[in-house]
Formats: sequence, structure tokens, C-alpha cells
Amino acid sequence: MLQFSTKKALGEYLDQQRQLGKTIGFVPTMGALHEGHASLVKIARKSTDIVTVSVFVNPTQFNDKNDLQNYPRTEEKDCQLLESLGVDAVFLPSVDEMYPEPDTRVFDFAGIDRVMEGEHRPGHFNGVAQVVSRLFDIVNPDKAFFGEKDYQQIAIIKQMVKTLGYKLEIVPCPIVRGADGLALSSRNALLTPEHRAVAPFIHKTLSQVPAMAATKSPAEICNWVVETINSQPLLEAEYFQIVDDETMMPINTFTKGRKSVGCVTVWAGKVRLIDNVVF
Ligand code: AMP
Repeated sequence: MLQFSTKKALGEYLDQQRQLGKTIGFVPTMGALHEGHASLVKIARKSTDIVTVSVFVNPTQFNDKNDLQNYPRTEEKDCQLLESLGVDAVFLPSVDEMYPEPDTRVFDFAGIDRVMEGEHRPGHFNGVAQVVSRLFDIVNPDKAFFGEKDYQQIAIIKQMVKTLGYKLEIVPCPIVRGADGLALSSRNALLTPEHRAVAPFIHKTLSQVPAMAATKSPAEICNWVVETINSQPLLEAEYFQIVDDETMMPINTFTKGRKSVGCVTVWAGKVRLIDNVVF
């Protein structure tokens, strides 16, 4: 596995591969890698010739300084995992390499950023688009792989791809969970043992709601999810919202033949966890 820390060296390597007729797959991450990230790499490995993974904790997408400071960093372990997965190139840039000048671009996401994570983490998606567009410019992939754990993020990235006219395919990949149902996340490492023990309750609650759609309205289900999660003394729901899969706009009724998704954010002590369920 080749390791790169500069845009120039990685770009030159990938240009050579393209000239050899190879397709490029790209998995952007913030490191502290787990089986969720590994699943994206495995899917990329199957459908593209050269798999590139970036590991970069992007400061512009953190709206909370403490969160950025405490974000787990395990670079050496990450590289070992990526090597074992047969990754061709890992990109480990510094903040200066990614942002020699501050990025002042403001993206228009056609309203997709007005709800859920966009509403509760102001500036977050703009920062995501800043870094992902820079990474796309460097890697110029044929396909880029994103996890459905960050469901709204995929809609944001697709909108950005449309607006900026990138010629690449965004491949959504299923959520990977632990045996107890908790969605794998780099932030799980920050949970206290007590919070880790109750965290699977989030998925357990969400897994009950698709069956409710036949008899209950989205609003009733939202109230039930928030109340049920909050009945656990160690968990506090920030929001649960049911939105249309395409527009990410909150829905008032379920429409037959239209996919919708319920997204939740829960505080487990000082750790903010997200998960979702598709209807
Ligand atoms: P992160 O390092 O948290 O920014 O995540 C990098 C990529 O991995 C994103 O596309 C995430 O959606 C994806 N990802 C993180 N956790 C999981 C998971 N449990 N299952 C599937 N994809 C995931």
C-alpha cells in the first residue's frame, strides 16, 4: 500500500493508473477506522481497480471545537487495517496541505441542509462539501463510496456532485452494526462503559417503527421514538425526524411507493450518536 501526504504525489500516481486504463475507487474517512469503513473499502475493492482511502479529520465540518479536539486519531492502526484490506493508496494530508488558504465557499444544497443534521449542526454540511469537493478534485475518482449511517450526508454529496458537475458515481453502502445492533462509529470509542451498554437501545427502538407506519402518522411515530429513547436515563434524543428519501423534506403522511427515512440523533453522555431506519 502506498502512502501519500501531498496532493501532487497522489495526483501523479493516480494519473499514471488512469493512463494504464484503471478505474479509481475512493473512500473518504476521518480515520479511527472500524468494520463500517472496512465494508466501504470491500465494496470499492469489488467494483474498481485502484482503491484510494483518505484519512483526514476535517476541521471545517466541526461546529464544536471540543468534538474536533476529542475526535479519536489512530493513524498507525488505520494504515494496518487498510493494508490488510488490499487498499492501493492511502492519503494522509495535513490541514495545511488541504487548506493552504481558508475555504470561504458557501454551497447551496437546495434546502437539503435545512433539516436534521443541517439544522442541528450549523455549517457542518458546508464543511463536508468543502473537504469532499477538494478530495474529489485531487483523486478524480470514477466511483466514491459513502455509508448510509450518514444518510443525509449522501443526499448532500449527491446535490454537490450535481451542482459542481462532477462526472463520478456516488455509491451508497449499507450500515454496519455490532452484534448488539449499535451502528459502528468512530465516536463509540469515546462512550463510557455505562453509555456503551445502553446505546444498542437506539437501534432496538428504531427497528420497531417500520411496522408502525401502517397505523400511525409520521408525527405520532416521531413522538414515540423520542419518548422511548428518553425513557432510558442515560440517553437523550436530540431529534427524530421522518423525511422523504429524495428531497430530505419532513413528511406528514406516508405515501405508498415512496421511500422515506427516519433519522435520529441521541446524546449518550457527552457523545453524539446518529442512526436511521428506512421505511
Ligand atoms: P467518518 O470517518 O465517520 O467520516 O466516515 C467515513 C465514511 O464511512 C462515511 O461515508 C460514513 O458514512 C461511513 N461509515 C461510518 N460508519 C459506518 C457504518 N457503521 N456503516 C457503514 N458506513 C459507515
